Amino acid sequence: MAQTAAVTITLQKVLGIDGWLAGAKRPYALGFIAGRRFGRSKPIPAGAKELDLTAEVIPWKLEVAAAGSIPVAVEIWDDQGDAGSKRLGAVTGSLGSPYPTQVHELGGGPLLRCDVFTREVPAAPGAAPVPRVAEGEKARATLRVPNTVLVSITEILGLHAPVSPGAPGVKRAEARPGYTSQDDLGRVYLNSDLAGGWAKDKQVIQLTAKVKVQRGKLPADAKIRWTVVEPDDPTNDDPGFHAAWGQYVDKKDYDAAGNHQGSRAGDNEGKPAKSPPWEAVSGFALASAAAAEAKTTIVGDESKVVFHCPDTAGDNFIVRADIDSATQVEGFGAQTGIMTLWHRIRVESIRMKGAFALPMDEVPVPFEPCCVQLDCEPEREVADQPHMAPKDEDLETECVAYVDKVFTNKAKPGWFCVISAMEPHPLPSKKGDKVFEGDAELKSGGAGANLSEYFEVPGTFPDVNFAELTSGSDTVSFNLFSVQTETTAAGPITRCWIVEHDAQPEFTAGDGSLAHAYKVRFNYSPRHRKKGGAVTPGGYGMAAKVKVKVFNPGAFYTAGISPTATAKGKEYFAGRTIMFTHHRAYRDEITGQPKADYRQRILGTIVHELVHAFGMPHKCGYFDFRAPRDRTCCMNYRPNWMLDDKRNLIPGTSGKTGMDVCGRHLKEVRRVHLEDNKGLAWK
Ligand SMILES: [Zn+2]
Ligand SMILES: [Zn+2]
Repeated sequence: MAQTAAVTITLQKVLGIDGWLAGAKRPYALGFIAGRRFGRSKPIPAGAKELDLTAEVIPWKLEVAAAGSIPVAVEIWDDQGDAGSKRLGAVTGSLGSPYPTQVHELGGGPLLRCDVFTREVPAAPGAAPVPRVAEGEKARATLRVPNTVLVSITEILGLHAPVSPGAPGVKRAEARPGYTSQDDLGRVYLNSDLAGGWAKDKQVIQLTAKVKVQRGKLPADAKIRWTVVEPDDPTNDDPGFHAAWGQYVDKKDYDAAGNHQGSRAGDNEGKPAKSPPWEAVSGFALASAAAAEAKTTIVGDESKVVFHCPDTAGDNFIVRADIDSATQVEGFGAQTGIMTLWHRIRVESIRMKGAFALPMDEVPVPFEPCCVQLDCEPEREVADQPHMAPKDEDLETECVAYVDKVFTNKAKPGWFCVISAMEPHPLPSKKGDKVFEGDAELKSGGAGANLSEYFEVPGTFPDVNFAELTSGSDTVSFNLFSVQTETTAAGPITRCWIVEHDAQPEFTAGDGSLAHAYKVRFNYSPRHRKKGGAVTPGGYGMAAKVKVKVFNPGAFYTAGISPTATAKGKEYFAGRTIMFTHHRAYRDEITGQPKADYRQRILGTIVHELVHAFGMPHKCGYFDFRAPRDRTCCMNYRPNWMLDDKRNLIPGTSGKTGMDVCGRHLKEVRRVHLEDNKGLAWK
């Protein structure tokens, strides 16, 4: 449908909201104009009768190229923290042609007041009568038709529309003719040429604008003026995003105390590959170029330009195209929706004939909040190898060799691989026998960084490697190391040293090396927390007297592994993951078939392994980014407790790992520059 008017809508006020606010904790508003979301708003004061939206830092205002009725709405929500955001009410309405220029009040209960300013597209002129020139007269009547020009953006190469975002499916996005991200979900890939192929340090789109002369003519000097607007990062404003993570993801929206103060722009962290970020397309000269504006010549009825986008995933922008001329022109410009930078990775999917299929249609979903698009290839079958390695100690080496052998795209930039294998190694025939259950006393040996806790149990059990400790109502599992057997006056004993749980709550995006990922480490034992040599009492807060269950090997073994790549003696995460689908966590030992929760369980593990590929450590100790708060970040280990903001353990938080990441992993994955990972060496 042709554009009939340029309608500028400003959401100004919601009147009569006091009924909705009773008992609200942290109420806020979201606004919607023609599908574009605005806000969160500043916090709504307690007892407010009306909500003034004109005080928002980013105006809740949009120019719509109208061609039908325009929906508008304001929703009032209450952020209840861990319980999530609750919708208190909404005022909805729509504005129909001819969109009269005036203040409108919409809704039945509370009223939404919006200002509307409309410029109608004039009708194309028909024949106009001009008086006949009289005999002998020199003067003649002239008809000056004003120049009216409509601009539309008709093509954006390098922009991809999502296909069922947030839902399973192997196809994640596509280039779509005429798509200009009016759904605000358009993706531009990092390290990509216009056709979607790998191009290191390049992230570009090519825009085409067409002009239509509605009446008069196109002035000879007319150009297209392109302008770039940077919107807010909307991630943290979603009602399903937990307030505790908001500030980490979008600092500018919050005050020093971490309270949301209304959405603000200026979040982009990346830099374009070229400055100013514009490049002429052959045939369409660049008349001028600055950081946020460029002018290009019009040839026939169109103009084109290449825009170099900022280079960090999650960076976003909008482009406007207007007619620019020294001559008087009535111009109707056009603008894109929000476009966002994404990592785009292709995943080679390989399965041993006898191994279980992996849910590769679901794996990409938890990556979308990190602005990562995983395009998984159809699975390729390879021959069975019932055990990856003859024994546990050889597993890493054997996995490296195996991946080298089967990963056919390993030399190509932009590729990860995921392999469904069988068992990692032969298991002891007696799997994880419990050799002792009873009381024990925790003791410490060593000091500072070398401080370790241990306990002794009667009997000789030289092979034990795993224990469950119970203190009060809490039971926590630990691996054991340096197990010693001795004979004392009271008889033989086994001394079990406890492997601490490590956590990396302070990680950042880095060069992809393991050294960077695990640079800052906290360690937790039953009664202590350690950071380097600094020991503080606490840990799992256990009493000295505990109940223990001690197990032989096999109680816990590798279910998935991501072999690293080495460059100049340094180890790097490398985007290569092997899942052992016949692991007892996944396969029913009696039927030999996948367990009922196989898909769910293995999905979290695959996502965990592929998040590593972005140079990320595991065991962050955080909950995921969602509200209501339910699951912990998929990068955690199930037996471990999570951490509070003082880096102390929170009781009752084990066994809650889900498939989503925490806010920190979300933000840091976005910040990663995979093209700089020397282990991947993507040229
Ligand atoms: Zn891990
Ligand atoms: Zn995390």
